[in-house]
This record gives sequence, structure tokens and C-alpha cells, in this order.
Amino acid sequence: MIPIDKERCQAEKPNGQSFMTLGGGHKMIRCENKPTVIAAETNAGSDGLKGSMTMCDDCLKVAKKQLPKGFFDIVRM
Ligand SMILES: [Zn+2]
Repeated sequence: MIPIDKERCQAEKPNGQSFMTLGGGHKMIRCENKPTVIAAETNAGSDGLKGSMTMCDDCLKVAKKQLPKGFFDIVRM
């Protein structure tokens, strides 16, 4: 388990380089915003543990679009 970091958003996002960029350069970088919420998985994983991570408003919006509804609970910090 990765401990939650209340000082910095724990989401990762693309560095802005397209997958098609010649020579690569596409990678995920850690968001540097201050988090506003804690997102906790609704259901425990196969290891029996529930994951949780902090997110800023921007990353929360992206996560809500990408993850199925009810996948995680949001707790305001
Ligand atoms: Zn973020």
C-alpha cells in the first residue's frame, strides 16, 4: 500500500507528449497540485485491501470520466 500524501496530489497524468511522438517521450508524470479530496476504492482488491489516494480538483474530474461510477468514494479533505 502506498500511504496517502496530503501535501501533493497523487494522480499521474500524461506529460503532454503524444503517443505518436517520434522517439517516444510519452510518459506519466506526477501531478504537482495540492490535493482537495481523498479517493478511496469502494471495493477491496484481491489482496483484501482498499486503495486510497489524494487528488486535486482537476485530477478528480479526469478520474470521474475515466473510472466507472461507484468505483471509488470521495472524501473532502
Ligand atoms: Zn492532480
